[in-house]
Amino acid sequence: MSNRPHAPPPHIIALDGREVDLLHWMYARSDIKQIRGNPEKVIAAIDEYHDKHNKLMNIGDVKGPTILDIIAQRKPSLMIELGGYVGYSAVLFGNALKAHGGKLLSIEVNPEMAAVANQLVELAGLREHVQIMVGASNVVLEELVREEKQINEVELIFLDHWQKLYLPDLWLLEDLGVIVPGRTMLIADNVIMPGAPDYLEWVKATPDEKKKLLEKADVGGRRPKPELIYETVVPEFDTDFGKDGLAITKVL
Ligand code: SAM
Repeated sequence: MSNRPHAPPPHIIALDGREVDLLHWMYARSDIKQIRGNPEKVIAAIDEYHDKHNKLMNIGDVKGPTILDIIAQRKPSLMIELGGYVGYSAVLFGNALKAHGGKLLSIEVNPEMAAVANQLVELAGLREHVQIMVGASNVVLEELVREEKQINEVELIFLDHWQKLYLPDLWLLEDLGVIVPGRTMLIADNVIMPGAPDYLEWVKATPDEKKKLLEKADVGGRRPKPELIYETVVPEFDTDFGKDGLAITKVL
């Protein structure tokens, strides 16, 4: 463990430098001029790095298209992402949102990852459609809603940070009053592998079942809204890391 005064907690330290290596590899490419300003080429290059060099925990080209279809159908003016990593999903979704003038707000706790993501968003020419904020999801969400009043409803949110935070962060959003019947859609990644059983149980439960769950839940000061009615489907995918699923939840 580092003795640096500002050493990050162990769970947010970069894996092994591969994320910064991705940037060096990208800018050393002979076709960097063609990649600049072209989001599809940025995505293809990150996929190539993932396939040929080091595995990266990006949404990837297997699960990504399902989310692009949802963006194209719902055309959110603002999409929120929890967990940005190197910005693969930020470039992918930012480009899809650009088609109808929408924006992505990506919240990333690790400033090193956010720096890499910012650089790749810039390279893709998506600066006006993607904003990356550094901070823990719960802290940033609460600031944006309560203090800055920048968000009064969640149109589309992608939960892709740590699975154990999915449910507490959903409870926070319920408490903040920004989960809106008939308007909000939630998409959560990795719900099969590594899995998010408590989150899945909540988004699949009826209001009565949720009231029962709350009798023994530790809500950590948040005020969940069990009366919200969720409808969730979990399409499954064969990914590089094994079978996985996305939980896609409509708020009725
Ligand atoms: N969405 C990215 C993509 O598809 O390209 C992948 C995200 S990766 C699976 C998870 C990221 O969540 C990591 O970069 C990690 O630092 C970040 N993270 C973990 N806990 C977080 C928190 N509490 N708030 C914001 N980001 C967090």
